[in-house]
Amino acid sequence: MGRVAWVDGRFVRLGEPAVGLEDRGYQFGDGVYEMVKVVEGVPRDFDRHLARLARSLAQIRLAPPPRRELLRAVAAELLRRNPLRLATLYIQVTRGEAPRAHPFPAGVRPRVVMAVRRLVPPSERDRAEGVSVLTTPEIRWARRDIKTVNLLPNVLARQRAAEAGCREAVFVEADGTVTEASAANLFILDEAGVLRTHPADERILPGITRAVVLELARGLGLPVEERAFTLEELLRAREAFLTGTTSFVLPVATVDGRVIGNGRPGEVTRTLGRAYCERSGIPELARVWR
Ligand code: PLP
Repeated sequence: MGRVAWVDGRFVRLGEPAVGLEDRGYQFGDGVYEMVKVVEGVPRDFDRHLARLARSLAQIRLAPPPRRELLRAVAAELLRRNPLRLATLYIQVTRGEAPRAHPFPAGVRPRVVMAVRRLVPPSERDRAEGVSVLTTPEIRWARRDIKTVNLLPNVLARQRAAEAGCREAVFVEADGTVTEASAANLFILDEAGVLRTHPADERILPGITRAVVLELARGLGLPVEERAFTLEELLRAREAFLTGTTSFVLPVATVDGRVIGNGRPGEVTRTLGRAYCERSGIPELARVWR
C-alpha cells in the first residue's frame, strides 16, 4: 500500500499532485517545517517539535499558525493510516497560494501539509564504525535557527559530500568556527574531555536531538559546554558525533579524510548513542555500541 499524506484537510496519496504552482513555499521557499521521529506510531518529543514549529512560524510572521490540537489529530490519523515501526512525520506550513508577488498576500490562509515516510536509520556499519564528513564554507543565511524550507545551500553541500563519499557536510565559518552539518548538529569531546556543541543561537538550528543528548549527557554527569569550536579543535577532538532526527547519534570517524581520535567511536559517543536509542524506544539500534 502506498503512503498517505494530508494536504489542507484532505488525505491524498503521497506523490499525488495536491499543491498548486502558486504555493509560496514552491515559489519563494516561504515556509517552515518540522521532521519528527516516530517509533511504533508514537511521535517522539512531539511537544518540543511543535514548540519549535510555533517559534519558526512566529519568526517569519506566518499567521494564523495551525492549531496544535489539529496537528496532533491529523498526525494520529496519518500514523494510523501509515503503520510503520520507524517513520518520520513531516509537517510543512507555507504562506499559502496566491499570485506571485513578494509581499505577504492578504487574506490567504497558510497551507499545512503532513506526510509520513519510512525512516531508515544509519546503517549498522556507519553506527559501529563511524562516518566520514566533508567540511564546506558556511554560506547559509543569518537565521539558521528558523527551520525554513529554503534548504538549497544544505542540498548543495550535501551533494558535494555525497560525491566525495561522505555521509554529511559540516559548515565552517570564515573565522574557522564550526556551526553544524547540513541536516544534523555536531558535538565533540575536546582535548580536555569536555563535551561541546555550538550554542543554540541564530547560527544553528536548535536540534531536538541535540537538546535530548545534552540532557542525557548532563544526567550522566559528563562535563558539557554549549561553546563553539573551530575546525582545528574538531580535528584534534578525541571524539565527534552528529545528532539529528534521521542521524540519531552518529559517530564521526574522519573529517576531510583526517582521522578523529583513534578513528573508532569513543566511549562517550557510544554511551550517549546507547542512551539516546534506549530513550527513543529503539534499543535494538544500540546493540552495536555494547
Ligand atoms: N541542523 C540542521 C541544519 C538540520 O536540518 C537538522 C535536522 O534536519 C538538525 C540540525 C537536527 O535537528 P533535529 O535533531 O531536530 O532533527
